[in-house]
Amino acid sequence: MTPELGAPVSAVKGVGGVRAEALARLGIRTVGDLLRHYPRGYEDRRDKRKIGDLCDGLRAVVRATVVSVEKSGPRPVRGGRKAPLKLLARDDTGVLEIVFFGAPYLANAFRRGEEYVFCGAVTQGVRALRMLHPEFSRADEGGGRDILPVYPLTAGLGRRDLRRWIASLLESAGDIPECLPADTIAQNRLCGIGYALENIHYPADMRRLREAKYRLVFEELLTLQTGLLLLKNANGRRGRGIAFRDAGADTARFVEGLPFALTGAQSRTLGEIERDMESPRVMNRLVQGDVGSGKTVIAAAAMYKAVRCGYLAVMMAPTETLAKQHLDEFERLFRGHGVRLGFLTGAVRGAERRRLLERTEKNEIDMLIGTHALIQPDVVYGKLGLVVTDEQHRFGVRQRVGLSKKGRDPDILVMTATPIPRTLALILYGDLDISVMDERPPGRRPVVTRAVDAGGRDAAYRLMRSELAAGRQAYVIAPLIEDADESPLRSVTGLFEELSARFGEYAVALIHGRMKQAEKDAVMGAFYAGETDVLVSTVLIEVGVNVPNATVMLIENAERFGLAQLHQLRGRVGRGSAQSHCILVTENASPEAAERARILVSTDDGFEIAERDLELRGPGEFFGLRQHGIPPLRIANLAKHTKALMAVKAEAERLLADDPLLESPKNAALKAGIDALFASAADIGI
Ligand code: ADP
Ligand code: MG
Repeated sequence: MTPELGAPVSAVKGVGGVRAEALARLGIRTVGDLLRHYPRGYEDRRDKRKIGDLCDGLRAVVRATVVSVEKSGPRPVRGGRKAPLKLLARDDTGVLEIVFFGAPYLANAFRRGEEYVFCGAVTQGVRALRMLHPEFSRADEGGGRDILPVYPLTAGLGRRDLRRWIASLLESAGDIPECLPADTIAQNRLCGIGYALENIHYPADMRRLREAKYRLVFEELLTLQTGLLLLKNANGRRGRGIAFRDAGADTARFVEGLPFALTGAQSRTLGEIERDMESPRVMNRLVQGDVGSGKTVIAAAAMYKAVRCGYLAVMMAPTETLAKQHLDEFERLFRGHGVRLGFLTGAVRGAERRRLLERTEKNEIDMLIGTHALIQPDVVYGKLGLVVTDEQHRFGVRQRVGLSKKGRDPDILVMTATPIPRTLALILYGDLDISVMDERPPGRRPVVTRAVDAGGRDAAYRLMRSELAAGRQAYVIAPLIEDADESPLRSVTGLFEELSARFGEYAVALIHGRMKQAEKDAVMGAFYAGETDVLVSTVLIEVGVNVPNATVMLIENAERFGLAQLHQLRGRVGRGSAQSHCILVTENASPEAAERARILVSTDDGFEIAERDLELRGPGEFFGLRQHGIPPLRIANLAKHTKALMAVKAEAERLLADDPLLESPKNAALKAGIDALFASAADIGI
């Protein structure tokens, strides 16, 4: 009898309390979880060789008897590292040395006189040929099968245990209930769930493994995509929205009053927004504009239109500093337009907050700018017409959705300076309309970017000094707030002291996240006003900050920051007509960090950088997918499985066209899968 998929793992023969705890560390709590603990690779024993036939550089499989196990004592060798575990193994043609570093838990895995299969790369050792960290298993393991699963492990779990438990569950693979609708399987030529699970764990050959994998990837992506589309449907995308059509509500008067002409990309985007707003359909538009492309003024124009039609327009920014900057900019932009501005952040409290909320509810405010404080439960909006989220990748889905739920089908505009590669946009924003602003205001020169090591710092400071002498301002970024004993990383507090001394004739200021909001506001205010010359900051100023007079961005320990983050930081300069510079100082750069620096030096194009970032890091890390509300995936790779993604998109649309809320019994298993997947993304709320 196979246990039910939903039964706890302890229902599996051989899994006791301790093992169940170890499994829980891998996120495996139920029998179903165990079946879906997919291998991270395979031990392919099909092509076995004799030790006598091995040579340096070959990847090989050998079957050999362990003749000695050289267990290292607890005594650490130089540098605090534990001594390696060494084995000698022999077959009838020779001897092979097997070495494991830093894997003390393997010491008891081998018994002298037993036969094992080892699979790995062969190198020439001192005494004999050697294999470093091979995959291995007992020769009699696997029941005669030659392709064995290799699982992600954790302390307290042996690979043999996992193999045994999963193999025993798979004996009744035929009984595992199908979780995809029958027509989905038929139309997309997918294999059944039993076959897929059997062959993802113990593939008989590579063709079956491919079939199994495609089916499981398809299933996971379909669950994700359908779940995201359901979320959007539930958010009233289909509901009727507001048609902003009143006379005098076009944005021409506002645009004509600007001190500059809009770029082509800005005009196009604003045109798209106006068309959406005028139509009775709810607008759901994402503006993807690279750093510095001028998104704020476009948001302002859209908000102006909503206000002209008698509605409240709200803009949410990810930090107080940014919200304040927007408020200041809006005060300038709307001077003489008779717009009543309100400001709501966590720092606005007590009587001031009460008065503001009262006025908001009574429609005495036209535009409200703030942070996530805008979605606190007691904030009630009068006639909410338009919701703008700036730098939306910084918000969870729930926060973004929370704001729009405060009105009755308000139009929604989300803005991001983090371009998203097309494949990801398809998944993330399935039915969102997208405007791309791929142009910067005229006269902007690309930022000159250089990557240097510690030796290049003096030259960087010389450059900074000459820019300061010309009346420009500079940012210096470091990863830590304070120096830490064991850390070689730079801190802003340390740098602030150093630079205050070094640039004594200039005003140097410090800002970081542990300061009080009022202090941060004062520091930023002075920098905006040009009263301070050098701003030493953590990544606090990463998004949105706009000081066109700043022309130098110096980033310490650049190896600690991701590509997207570095691009954002660099985007703080190059916002005026003067030539700007970005200097990345790296110490002990890993090959990946060096590659990141190389990409930044070679291109200024956020879209290209986004693609490269996706390749380098994979979608898990990519631009904080978690923050987009995307649950962690077990097998699908959003960067790689683009073909499946296209098929999945079509299938998800077909399913929902037929059954918009997935209420039909034939879709019940898929719906349950969606609920389970999204339960792991605590951030999302359908
Ligand atoms: P981002 O897209 O990074 O949010 P901002 O909206 O902060 O960029 O705009 C950056 C700067 O460019 C601001 O100082 C803004 O006033 C200015 N700007 C925006 N549009 C134009 C334009 N068409 N011509 C000249 N300057 C512009
Ligand atoms: Mg901005």
